[in-house]
Amino acid sequence: MPAHLLQEEISPSYTMTTTTTITAPSNRALQNGAARAASKTPMGQEKEEVNYEMRDDMFDPTYREKEGPKPKFIYVWRNIILMGMLHLGAIYGLFLLPSAQLYTLLFAFVYYMTSALGITAGAHRLWSHRTYKARLPLRVFLTIANTMAFQNDIYEWARDHRVHHKFSETDADPHNAQRGFFFSHVGWLLVRKHPDVIEKGRLLDMSDLKAEKLVMFQRRHYKLGILFLCFLIPTFIPYYFWGENFSHSLFISTLLRYTVVLNATWLVNSAAHMYGSRPYDKNINPRENMLVALGAAGEGFHNYHHTFPYDYSASEYRWHLNFTTFFIDCMCFLGLAYDRKKVSKAAILARCSRTGEGSAKSG
Ligand SMILES: [Zn+2]
Ligand SMILES: [Zn+2]
Repeated sequence: MPAHLLQEEISPSYTMTTTTTITAPSNRALQNGAARAASKTPMGQEKEEVNYEMRDDMFDPTYREKEGPKPKFIYVWRNIILMGMLHLGAIYGLFLLPSAQLYTLLFAFVYYMTSALGITAGAHRLWSHRTYKARLPLRVFLTIANTMAFQNDIYEWARDHRVHHKFSETDADPHNAQRGFFFSHVGWLLVRKHPDVIEKGRLLDMSDLKAEKLVMFQRRHYKLGILFLCFLIPTFIPYYFWGENFSHSLFISTLLRYTVVLNATWLVNSAAHMYGSRPYDKNINPRENMLVALGAAGEGFHNYHHTFPYDYSASEYRWHLNFTTFFIDCMCFLGLAYDRKKVSKAAILARCSRTGEGSAKSG
């Protein structure tokens, strides 16, 4: 096969102002999850492209789980009780939906989408993977939106997520999908972390986030932030501005909306690691799941995303079931985001034919 077909390069985005094209040094190729399959072919025949700024979100095939029995679950009862109460409140919110004011429903939906963007466009594509760059006003917006979503602060979310990619589906993966649907969905938040998650998490390069004042500011004031942005403000606004019942405001706009965002995000870790197709890399478990893409604002193209974590669209496509990419593109249009990284079609095709389910070596 011609060498240029095997090269995975970053192509310029169609409306972007700046472009990054990087070819990985050969020793980096071994760290790329993509390279596991590539290593079956003679080295030096192909180049795997990686994001030059982000190194610790690439699969590390050198990690080995410790032998012997797995450590017992240590339950975190505070989280179990709070999570149980939250979900009961959300279910009650579901029953209140028919009697809510239209404004309340619209407001809850907008708050849902905004907080989802704080996770997808913010904690995930910007801060965990550095797939694009954002100017200060956008970063301020994403920090606020991220606090509305209350899924731990950006620093902690990105650390857990980088370690999830680097040690995917091993003991060092915080939501290791090998431990079942429930564990990877929510169970991992209800027990103490596996010692390897903590150990490997500590060794990650988080210097970029430590150096980002806004991220550290959010971390310092996180409790106050979530109190207001996740709980008090969404309860207060419908109640105060259009006279919604206090219970409708609390159970729909706050508890139901928060629970839906949580579960949509968790489905990426559970369902999208179990159900769907693997057109890009059949050697890994993450899959393309359209329902998850729909609920999680474009984060369901998970076989693609684990294969090319540096792609700003987290998908081969752009706006197809991908509100987050639409949002980032709008921000680019406004000059608030730039330097989006996108894998070229030729590179994707080459990768599909080499490691995808439809590849010649399939079977
Ligand atoms: Zn994943
Ligand atoms: Zn990711």
